[in-house]
Amino acid sequence: MIPILTYHQIATPPASPSPFRSLSVPVTHFESQMAWLYRLGYQGLSMSELMPYLRGDKTGRVVGITFDDGYLNNLTQALPVLTRMGFTSTVYAVSQMLGQSNAWDQAIGVPKSDLMNASELQTWARAGQEVGSHTRHHVRLLQSSDVVAREEIGRSKAELEDLLGQAVTQFCYPYGEFNATHQSWVEEAGYAAATTTVRSRQRIGAREPMEWFALARVPVVRSTHWTQFLLKILTRHEDRHGAHGAHWALRPQSPDQSPDQAPDQAPDQVGSA
Ligand SMILES: [Zn+2]
Repeated sequence: MIPILTYHQIATPPASPSPFRSLSVPVTHFESQMAWLYRLGYQGLSMSELMPYLRGDKTGRVVGITFDDGYLNNLTQALPVLTRMGFTSTVYAVSQMLGQSNAWDQAIGVPKSDLMNASELQTWARAGQEVGSHTRHHVRLLQSSDVVAREEIGRSKAELEDLLGQAVTQFCYPYGEFNATHQSWVEEAGYAAATTTVRSRQRIGAREPMEWFALARVPVVRSTHWTQFLLKILTRHEDRHGAHGAHWALRPQSPDQSPDQAPDQAPDQVGSA
């Protein structure tokens, strides 16, 4: 089983009570988490670099590192830590919202936070980190028309590739929302894989081809203590949330309060992803 970590913001969490404050992990915590991985002999990898391990073509102590939404603080706070450890990671950017902010969250009271602009995203990529797509406008695919959903999936890839001058082969579903049709469009658009908010470490070798477009991840939130972080990586702690069996696809993750997410709610399950 290979853990693919989900982060959002690397920042001081907003004052309580604020919705989704869980989604901000202080840089000191992030640094300690990366240092634990390093100490334990794990290599943190971007999704593209993780693929051979997920396929079973390579073996080793590896962890996928992903950041949803493309926050500027990923560049300013996380990148120096990743660079120091020699780790790579994938930021899933929203191609038509570069240089803007998390407008989709502000409607429900989440403080504004800047997203990387075009040149900052280029800086991220030049530093050896990966950019994946998180649609054009951070849409809810299940509430979008077929035409819109397909365009959000396909055109975001083309737009990011134009900007970066390199292939964009990784996708992440906003809010963890998707169905089998969306999976097939992600494949058709030319992505190699897509991640979800389904909670589990990811098994090695997909049971069927469409599983590559519904990969499970392990959320790391504000309150994730380092002992819980290690449990998430090293044990079946996350796997019991069940990414396996027939229900891994087709269904967005249901709200799931685990102890490490209370009392802040489990926003990585029910909202922004
Ligand atoms: Zn998102």
